[in-house]
Amino acid sequence: MSQCTTYTHCTICVACCGLKVTSEDNTVIKIEPDKEAVNWRDFCVRAAESHRSLQHPSRITQPMKRVGDEYVPVPYKQAVKEIAQQLGDIVQRHGPHALGSYTGNPATSNFGAFSFFSLFLDAIGTDNRYFVGSLDQNSHHYVCEEMYELPWAFLQPDVENTDCLLLVGANPAVSELGWVFSVSEGWKKAQAMRARGGTVYVVDPRRTESAAKADCHISPLPETDWALLLAILHVIASNAWHDPAVAEYCENFDELIAMLKAQDVEALSARCEVPVATIEEVARTFSKGSGICLAQTGVGQTSTGSVSLWLSHLLNLITGNMRGKGGLYHNKGGLDMVKTGGEFFPKVHRTSRVNQASSVGGFLPFAEAVTEMLTPGEGQIRAFIIHGGNPVITGPEGEKLNAAMADLDLLIAVDSFQRESHRHADWLIPAPSYLELDEVSILLQEIANAPSLQMLRSAVKKPDGVPYEWEFFRDLTLAMNKPLLLGKPALNWLVKGYSLIAKITGNPYDGFSPKQVAKQMYKTGGQVSYKQIENSPHGYNLDPTIDYEYLTDNLPTESGKVRTLPVDLYARLNALLASPSVRPDKAEYPLQLISRRRKHMMNSWLTEGSMQQMKRPESDIIEVNQEDAARWQLQDGEWVSVSSRVGAVQAQLLVSDKIRPGVAVMSHGWGNNTYNPNKKGDVTPSGGVNRNLLVANDDRDPLTGVPKLNGTSIKIEALQRDVA
Ligand code: SF4
Repeated sequence: MSQCTTYTHCTICVACCGLKVTSEDNTVIKIEPDKEAVNWRDFCVRAAESHRSLQHPSRITQPMKRVGDEYVPVPYKQAVKEIAQQLGDIVQRHGPHALGSYTGNPATSNFGAFSFFSLFLDAIGTDNRYFVGSLDQNSHHYVCEEMYELPWAFLQPDVENTDCLLLVGANPAVSELGWVFSVSEGWKKAQAMRARGGTVYVVDPRRTESAAKADCHISPLPETDWALLLAILHVIASNAWHDPAVAEYCENFDELIAMLKAQDVEALSARCEVPVATIEEVARTFSKGSGICLAQTGVGQTSTGSVSLWLSHLLNLITGNMRGKGGLYHNKGGLDMVKTGGEFFPKVHRTSRVNQASSVGGFLPFAEAVTEMLTPGEGQIRAFIIHGGNPVITGPEGEKLNAAMADLDLLIAVDSFQRESHRHADWLIPAPSYLELDEVSILLQEIANAPSLQMLRSAVKKPDGVPYEWEFFRDLTLAMNKPLLLGKPALNWLVKGYSLIAKITGNPYDGFSPKQVAKQMYKTGGQVSYKQIENSPHGYNLDPTIDYEYLTDNLPTESGKVRTLPVDLYARLNALLASPSVRPDKAEYPLQLISRRRKHMMNSWLTEGSMQQMKRPESDIIEVNQEDAARWQLQDGEWVSVSSRVGAVQAQLLVSDKIRPGVAVMSHGWGNNTYNPNKKGDVTPSGGVNRNLLVANDDRDPLTGVPKLNGTSIKIEALQRDVA
């Protein structure tokens, strides 16, 4: 058999590393970095091992229909027809909002899947849309909309040229330096910056791998990053260390500085338990030269995430680091989202039916989904589509969600794997791997900071029974007789006409596909053509020149300036300042639970890949400080009960000096007990426990709806010890 080499890129995280994939007989045998691509140096084990998931026993390789306790294979066309009938009936009887949807990580990193799912949901007209962002990065989108009118802004840190990096809730030594941005070799660049005299601060309740290599590790209490950042801002404003020229492109600048000066640094220091001297040192260093404050996942997953993110932006802003070398800048990429974002992603505001929770970027907080499924009335969710991801594991109170989904009239899962969240699925629709796609993953490419755009190329042919996700949503829309484009039923004929072309050429992408959408988007973006990307196997290189002033010169806000004091964020800050400085439930739940990164793991959606590499997922380990262990007479290695006001799990104790007192850490993303149709009801455990069962649906950031996945109040107790 001859070997075949394919150049593509990884879609597991936003680094988008270029890959060289070797296959033989339609089987991937090796994945290496593509060293001819601009972006490959972050290449990691998650990509190197990702082909193993192609043969994973939980992989869905054909449409499956639930019949009793079993799944039976159904031909694709028949599946589309039956689902269209069932879903059509529900929408006909109960209205469009009776359909709810969840878009998970795998679906957001696959542009074709994401965009055609959106077209489908628009065609149905449902407001019940949920997105993994409300379990992770909503605070970024929310703050960017409030300050810059750009919810989909991807602001890149100029790490190569900065003098100071303040990392809050990030561990780039284990993952990579990226979140809703990406810096190729970011951690290496940060270390190089230190070597030339710069400073790296890592803010984290745990002495992470990054903290161990930083100049200074600052360890605040979880949920108090806002107090720390406000205190730093106060010191800068009080000493006039900010850049007065910033006022030119800011609304309410004087009012902002006055507000910052008025803060009580001692009180803020007491809240976050970071000494005033440390706060002053950070403020001095950060404002001396260029600096970048990056508040990331660890902060975004708290109930104070939106305010913390806002304050981190203010820190960059008032020190002149939103418009200069060594700060944050907008990378035009292929679409120039500052100019075209509003066109590609028009502003839509949705409100949840029961609790009137607001949407972010058009998606409602996922923590609302259970209530919307269980509360009777017009608009109650009766059918649900889980598109990629594993919300029962990723989200709060998964057992409640699981139970609510059991009562739905129709549950459809579109995914590469069968997951815990599919336990009650009536239909399993298979989805391809990124190693089987031939398209441009537009959004991911925009977030990746390399000035290069690359196409995904299929290294292997997808199994015959697996449709592209975009095909499924297109075909389902047409089968339901809903208008796929612009709300105009007549355009369905155009789409059908395109399908004939695809039939003739034998290439489904020649039909109405993500290719047509991408072509149009790049044309509007005006930076590159689809053809240029298509003709560049290792990526099309864009002009690497950074325009540091582009963002602040082109803001789409009404005034054309940055909104420094958005009303709701300011009100939320004042509410936090007025709240008790010691959390009220501390006596009952003395610890706060946080999460951590593992090299092999990328949230719950990579469980299938990670399981094959990790002897033990380590999610059933709870790490606590030795002082806390001694206080409750607990010993290293013993099993304990971990409980919160909404749930309980068991875990093995790891006594450590890496975590500060009052805080505990458990990895998230584990605990699948996936219903296995082949074993008629038996489950296939993925190992570990689901620590998110401890997180409450109603304990969340009021502005973004993100639940308190970090900072959850818990207690630990010894399990019954064996008596000798
Ligand atoms: S997971 Fe991220 S860092 Fe690792 S190879 Fe893929 S894109 Fe690169």
